[in-house]
Amino acid sequence: MSEDFYEVLGVSRDANEDEIQQAYRKKAREYHPDVSDDPNAEEKFKKAKKAKEVLTDEEQRQMYDQMGHDRYVEADKHGATDNGGRGAGGVGGVGGMGGGQGPFGDMSDIFETFFGGGGRGDSNRPRQGRDLRTGLRIDLEDAYHGVEKELNVTRPDTCPDCNGEGHPPGTDSHQCPECNGRGQTTTVQRTPMGRVQQRQTCRRCEGDGTVYDETCSTCRGDGVVREDASLSVEIPAGIEDGQTLRMEREGAPGERGGPKGDLLIEVSVAAHPDFERDGADLHHQEPISFPQAVFGDTIEVSTLDGKVELDVPSGTQSGETFRLSGKGMPRLRRRSDGDLYVQVQVVTPDSLDEEQRDALEAFAEAGGEEVDVDQGFFEKIKSSF
Ligand SMILES: [Zn+2]
Ligand SMILES: [Zn+2]
Repeated sequence: MSEDFYEVLGVSRDANEDEIQQAYRKKAREYHPDVSDDPNAEEKFKKAKKAKEVLTDEEQRQMYDQMGHDRYVEADKHGATDNGGRGAGGVGGVGGMGGGQGPFGDMSDIFETFFGGGGRGDSNRPRQGRDLRTGLRIDLEDAYHGVEKELNVTRPDTCPDCNGEGHPPGTDSHQCPECNGRGQTTTVQRTPMGRVQQRQTCRRCEGDGTVYDETCSTCRGDGVVREDASLSVEIPAGIEDGQTLRMEREGAPGERGGPKGDLLIEVSVAAHPDFERDGADLHHQEPISFPQAVFGDTIEVSTLDGKVELDVPSGTQSGETFRLSGKGMPRLRRRSDGDLYVQVQVVTPDSLDEEQRDALEAFAEAGGEEVDVDQGFFEKIKSSF
């Protein structure tokens, strides 16, 4: 599979979900094995389907864009791209991060999660270590500009005293009596379907077929110790809340000389008091005065990249929205930036001095309006002088 998923569907790299679905339906009609004469139709159909599945899943697509086609396909084969079912143990680090006061000060302990699932390998081949997960919280400004953050984690590392073997070097060994050196045990179970034979990794020797007379006292035979690590994480501009970054070879140690797993960092982007994010677009409210709304004015508007000027035309209504093109969030690995939508709010004064009151009354009169002025309003104002 050398063809990139975007090429398979014939869409651009920033195609939206609708475009992808549409392109997929077209390909599906073309290559459906029941209708096509193309001898490779079935394969092409499957490719298109896979491409659609990945590109219409936000998280998968982001991972795909990040990893590139070949690495993604390779990882997909091993199930490493499946971020869907996060076990309770897997997000332990994320919870730990959220609970602290400072977003970055906490040490995220992802050591325990290493022991959470599954038995050890049942083959004697080197095995890559498990992927570990943690969380990192950043603010919207950091997501806008991109940032390098320090991440502190407590994670498993290969025991230095036994090189991960679980026993001191040179310890005497003999064949495992439990499995007779096969590394596997067989159990027979009676079920309504008849007798079922099940093979399991031997618990005594953990599949090695060999037991040792002594266990390593540093790691108590696990081959693994706790390590406090400080990592520098490069967070790309435009990252969205909940997206996961992958740091290669920063996960759990491999077995039998296998490479380390990866460290998956789920980034949460904190809400901002002044900007609301909607994908790559930002929404912002800006107060203007009644005269500004009536006569029009050039106002200063905050963006995440400093102040810009916005021309408010005469006769602007409260709640009207103006679009500042390209002033939104950068899009991850795309060229175009989102937009900033500025909604103006005409502020009604809640106090007036005498001069302002007279002017406003004259304004109302000139418009033929009879306003029954609430005395309470002016009592309140007088008392404040
Ligand atoms: Zn055994
Ligand atoms: Zn050890």
